[in-house]
Amino acid sequence: MNNLFIYIELQDNGRVAEVSLELLSKGRSLADELDCQLEAVAIGTRLDGVAAQVMPYGVDVLHLFDDERLYPYTTIPHAAILTKLFEEEKPQIALLGATAIGRELGPRVSATLHGGLTADCTALSIGDYTDEQTGRHYENILLQTLPSFGGNVVATIVNPEHRPQMATVREGVMRKELRDTNYQGKIIRHDTKNYVTDTDFVIKIIERHIEHAKHNLKGASIVVAGGYGIGSRENFNLLFDLAKELHGEVGASRAAVDAGFVDHDRMIGQTGLTVRPKLYIACGISGQIQHTIGMQDSATIISINTDPNAPINAIADYVIIGRVEEVIPKMIKGYKSLGK
Ligand SMILES: Cc1cc2nc3c(=O)[nH]c(=O)nc-3n(C[C@H](O)[C@H](O)[C@H](O)COP(=O)(O)OP(=O)(O)OC[C@H]3O[C@@H](n4cnc5c(N)ncnc54)[C@H](O)[C@@H]3O)c2cc1C
Repeated sequence: MNNLFIYIELQDNGRVAEVSLELLSKGRSLADELDCQLEAVAIGTRLDGVAAQVMPYGVDVLHLFDDERLYPYTTIPHAAILTKLFEEEKPQIALLGATAIGRELGPRVSATLHGGLTADCTALSIGDYTDEQTGRHYENILLQTLPSFGGNVVATIVNPEHRPQMATVREGVMRKELRDTNYQGKIIRHDTKNYVTDTDFVIKIIERHIEHAKHNLKGASIVVAGGYGIGSRENFNLLFDLAKELHGEVGASRAAVDAGFVDHDRMIGQTGLTVRPKLYIACGISGQIQHTIGMQDSATIISINTDPNAPINAIADYVIIGRVEEVIPKMIKGYKSLGK
């Protein structure tokens, strides 16, 4: 009762999605702070491999709902299961990935339970809150932080009255941290029939088309990212050349994507990917908050910019003042001369 729940998203090969492992890591530390248990819910079929994947993240209770009809995901049965389980278990907090699935499932469950949900949080913590109008003081509630008003304000949202306090978080925002490789929680295999009706399966997936990612930007240890200052799609080839030399991946700002210099799936920032590479080379990127929120945790940041006052320079470890068209060929030449 009153524990912290994570919805586990499953991929085709039975692997638990990265975002769910990241949420388990965050959930574990929040549960420790609240002195409650961390519970995970996996819904699908052939779930035998799930426990081994999630337990090392410190899961105390794993709820399994195994039924052939529950995979691939469809919203109605998954929502029915989560809603009933939450009615029974009364979690204080429930977290989902801000993925296509989590964005559909989370609001449906929270609306049915008359709770509240904060979408796309960038930070979660536990704290107190005093309602200035009523003077009421709330302890140990979920503080849900996210950029608002176009990213110009960082807002913290609270949901003091309703349970569960629900939030979605995008992949890459939270750090994945193993708790203990030998951690052993309890496994509860539920009888799915008690949670769904036949009419919940009114929608059937007849055909599925799966498109695999064209790059591994999220997992890359070196990212060469280009902004509007790159100037053209052709000039972006310089970035691909440098990334190839460094065995890295190419990322981009929204302005570069909007200008058609590079494909949308490479966008980094508030509405794109969150990356944490060992080295981030920001080329012709000014460094607006909506961009930096997706890369500011990179271990080392190099900025190449013609403007010495570009905001990105303030968070960069190294700043090269110059035109990317001139600087990058020199970097490639220099790197090649090292014989790497
Ligand atoms: C709701 C919302 C969500 C958003 N989400 C995102 C997001 O997820 N990701 C994102 O990136 N943005 C996002 N944005 C947009 C963001 O506010 C900025 O507009 C965008 O990041 C700017 O991109 P930029 O730095 O490439 O372009 P600019 O701000 O135009 O900067 C170009 C930079 O290039 C430099 N430059 C110019 N020529 C050269 C040259 N030859 N060599 C070297 N440097 C040069 C300039 O000095 C300048 O610093 C969002 C905005 C809103 C309102």
